[in-house]
Amino acid sequence: MRLSGLALVLVTVLVAGLGGGAGSAWAGGPNRPVLPPAWSWPPSKQLQARGTACLGRLDAAGLRWVKGARTKKVATPITLPVFELGGVAWRSRIGASSLMDCFLAEALLVHAAPALHGLGVRTVVFGSIYKFRNVSGKRLLSRHALGLAMDIYSFITEDGVEHVVEKAYPRGDVVLRDIERALIATHGFRNVLTPATDPGEHDDHFHIEALTPLDHVATPAPQRRLPARLALELPAAWP
Ligand SMILES: [Zn+2]
Repeated sequence: MRLSGLALVLVTVLVAGLGGGAGSAWAGGPNRPVLPPAWSWPPSKQLQARGTACLGRLDAAGLRWVKGARTKKVATPITLPVFELGGVAWRSRIGASSLMDCFLAEALLVHAAPALHGLGVRTVVFGSIYKFRNVSGKRLLSRHALGLAMDIYSFITEDGVEHVVEKAYPRGDVVLRDIERALIATHGFRNVLTPATDPGEHDDHFHIEALTPLDHVATPAPQRRLPARLALELPAAWP
């Protein structure tokens, strides 16, 4: 009796642990994990397959990419010899490499570029993409370390005006506010941080990070109580 009682307690704890872990892993908000569920290093076979599929979609879209050097924590590293997507040119103000994970390239191509082009943006001036570091002030790996995030300092519109986040955003620059809203509305980004949403760390740039298939698969409510590795076996709604 005592043994079965103990077993019941253990099962209860185990189930509660799984449920709690799954809940916190898939819920939004400040406690969500900084890494996609089951993101692994070195990349698992499944993650590699996702990366290969992503590259196939870039090919299908006619985007020229080059395999990037093996880079710590970047599952599918690529560079873009011509960093121009959907009529929008991207350049780094510090000459940083375009090395990124395929999922970021795809998010920029499919989500960011059409939204930005529609608002008249022709050039995006970013700082860097890949940086192996933690989230500022936290012991959590930044998505820059996965090649999934980009910091943008200004946007140049077709009239030649450069909308610099640090100067123009506090003055209520309409273009920057529209860009912020449009990027969020694409739902292609897990996070869009701006001077409004994170004035402490993002007072002079927009931080955008790609939503990956691994984020997306884990989202549907019916799967919430499954461990992440099981959820990943389920069909993805993402392309
Ligand atoms: Zn950033």
